[in-house]
Amino acid sequence: MKDNYDVIVVGSGLGGLTAANIMARNGHRVLLAEQHFQLGGLATYFRRKHHIFDVALHGFPIGMQKSFRKYWGKPFAERIAQVRKIVFDNPQFHLTTTFDTEDFTRHLVETFKVPKERVDGFFAELKAMNYYDDQSETTRGLFQRHFPDRPDVWRLLMEPITYANGSTLDEPAISYGIVFGNFMSKGVYTFIGGTDLMLDMMAEELRANGVDIQTRALVEKILVDGGKVRGAVVNGQEIAAKVVISNGSLLNTVQDLVGEEHFAAEYLAGFRKVKVSNSSSQVYLGIRPGEKLEDIGDLLFTSTCPVFDSAAICAKQVTSRTYSVYYPSIRPGTDKYTIVASMNGWYDDWAGYTREEYKAAKEALIEDTLNALEKYVPNIRAICDYTEAATPKTFQRYTLHRQGASFGTKFDGLRYSMNLHEQIAGLFHTGSVGIIMSGWLGTVNYGVMAANEADKFLTLR
Ligand SMILES: Cc1cc2nc3c(=O)[nH]c(=O)nc-3n(C[C@H](O)[C@H](O)[C@H](O)COP(=O)(O)OP(=O)(O)OC[C@H]3O[C@@H](n4cnc5c(N)ncnc54)[C@H](O)[C@@H]3O)c2cc1C
Repeated sequence: MKDNYDVIVVGSGLGGLTAANIMARNGHRVLLAEQHFQLGGLATYFRRKHHIFDVALHGFPIGMQKSFRKYWGKPFAERIAQVRKIVFDNPQFHLTTTFDTEDFTRHLVETFKVPKERVDGFFAELKAMNYYDDQSETTRGLFQRHFPDRPDVWRLLMEPITYANGSTLDEPAISYGIVFGNFMSKGVYTFIGGTDLMLDMMAEELRANGVDIQTRALVEKILVDGGKVRGAVVNGQEIAAKVVISNGSLLNTVQDLVGEEHFAAEYLAGFRKVKVSNSSSQVYLGIRPGEKLEDIGDLLFTSTCPVFDSAAICAKQVTSRTYSVYYPSIRPGTDKYTIVASMNGWYDDWAGYTREEYKAAKEALIEDTLNALEKYVPNIRAICDYTEAATPKTFQRYTLHRQGASFGTKFDGLRYSMNLHEQIAGLFHTGSVGIIMSGWLGTVNYGVMAANEADKFLTLR
């Protein structure tokens, strides 16, 4: 590391990576400091035996193609392909969908017998929503207006979003509308080549643009003097910079890296009420080389819960699992099959264990998952040669997110993230906040927004 840069980007999640790329493209000298030994944050992967497991590559909206093309380049956009077979299986219904407006309309009309005008009215309202609209209505209110007393329809429309960003029926309808509107329009997409290839391509692009990438580089402090950023302490070394873009957790950024003493009382009063999202658990299953998986779908939203219940989705007693199935087509030229089961969860359910209890609880999670998966892959135990589990503690450990939050903060965090630079000149935040700015598309786009603000700050100074 040099002893000064124009910009220090703290963390290499998708928001940090993108912000670093834009700043470097604009001619600024950028240090990207990541505390982990690998780039990607939550959008990461790991290798075990002959397997590669993707942690957060389950699906994103079509908007990613445009964002990748504009902010990372054509080769990234060209690798985006549709996830075609999405399956719902729960006590209320079993169906397969391509997850686009047309197919959802077909199901709502034919399977759920909702009048077509009603469905069209719902989608038209979603399409017209934007961030500046009235935010007082909840998703529950929105559903009740369009599909009164239809818990089966609510489940179809809500369950995937609860998985995707932890939102509940009692959060602002606007956040549901924007996220679901994005996903719903043209289906769900993935990155051909897997997260490993994407991150390698990103690292290459960043280096080509002159970014100094440092992994195992923990930012311990963001240095502020007289209300202005003057640099950061990275692995004990003081580094000067006029701008810091933090991709770390919003709470850590304000309270640990900067320190509350640098913020106005008014800002802090609201900030302290911001809640973090729930966390996740995952079970990774590697299929023995030479074995095959039949086509059971790409993404399976499964639940044994009688109705949609956001509390049950996060409960330690798991009733709902999303399976992502990775066929060789995701990594062309290989014969690799893996399955990742994702469950939403709470940090506190995992935090109090002794080492032995924690190990046992992880083993139980793997066993339960294998039992549940037998419904879809009856010979899973025979063909699987590697299993591993991640818990909210794992997510906290590798990303430093408080409570292992998978989607940053709830909606109320958005304004505190976006207004950070009004508190401290030169300090910007990017990364999962407010549901809208979470997920692959949300964080890439937020990385661009943060970089644009930071660029303006440096240029107009
Ligand atoms: C299990 C799971 C599945 C998901 N699946 C999907 C999906 O299918 N589709 C989708 O769109 N989204 C998905 N998401 C959400 C998506 O992955 C995240 O919203 C997005 O990747 C978060 O990016 P971010 O920019 O907020 O950074 P993060 O991923 O939160 O990364 C922050 C980075 O900052 C680093 N950092 C923090 N503090 C410091 C410090 N002091 N010094 C140095 N480095 C620091 C961390 O190590 C980390 O690398 C999933 C999330 C989870 C947990």
